[in-house]
Amino acid sequence: MEELLCSEIVRFVREEPGNRFPDREQHYFDQPLVGLVSADDPIWLQYQQVIGPFHRTPEQLLPGAATVISWVLPITRSTRESNRSQTEVPSRAWSQTRSFGDRFNADLRRHLVAWLQQRGHRALAPQLDPNWQELADTPVGIASTWSERHAAYAAGLGTFSLNDALITPRGIAHRLGSVVTDLPLVPTVGERPGVYDYCLHYHNGSCGACIGRCPVAAISRQGHDKPRCGIYVYTTLTGLLAERYQVPITGCGLCQTRVPCEERNPVTR
Ligand code: SF4
Ligand code: SF4
Repeated sequence: MEELLCSEIVRFVREEPGNRFPDREQHYFDQPLVGLVSADDPIWLQYQQVIGPFHRTPEQLLPGAATVISWVLPITRSTRESNRSQTEVPSRAWSQTRSFGDRFNADLRRHLVAWLQQRGHRALAPQLDPNWQELADTPVGIASTWSERHAAYAAGLGTFSLNDALITPRGIAHRLGSVVTDLPLVPTVGERPGVYDYCLHYHNGSCGACIGRCPVAAISRQGHDKPRCGIYVYTTLTGLLAERYQVPITGCGLCQTRVPCEERNPVTR
């Protein structure tokens, strides 16, 4: 069943027209990485300590939950390359991926829920749940009731980074998704790496390339200034570019391109 499910995710990403730019044949995303983690894994309770009690466990989201399925949708090389030359604002392809690629990611969540339900299992996509909330003022700053990054870390798909993203074996430029189900599946996650193991700054004090890429100085050796980043991305860039690019959300991603972790885990080079 594990293989069938992973193949279905890969097939959907490869074949669905929603994973294509409106004006050309190119995909938003390359072949996904998929990870499975038990809903009983102690990490979910640890998250309620580390992030806050508002972060939901799989069991709270879906009583009887057995497995969390998490995936990484790597952004294609041509889109990443288009963003590498940018210094102030994202490229059009990056912004289209942020807006329309994300719609496709929501379709993938819905598809997987339906696929599991058709086979007699209960399933839910936490980020599409009406109770999902982003909270502006928590002890850890802006946070949500279900973090796709934390789900992906739990599933062994990557580690956190200086710029507050997730470095996976396919790099840091991606979108993430997850579904919770009562279908028991064999976890793919073995021994997890340390929380920041794949980021060169934490690994050996080097790099810091993402610091210089940020046009509003929202990253430093001390970490990521989420409010400053959020104002630039969701207010300034939207005002500047949304109409020109014909997208509702532009994203930014400058700190995820032209950096050593853009397309790989730089620590295992
Ligand atoms: S650019 Fe360097 S310091 Fe920044 S997240 Fe990537 S590996 Fe870490
Ligand atoms: S997404 Fe953009 S604004 Fe936010 S930290 Fe990265 S480069 Fe800076």
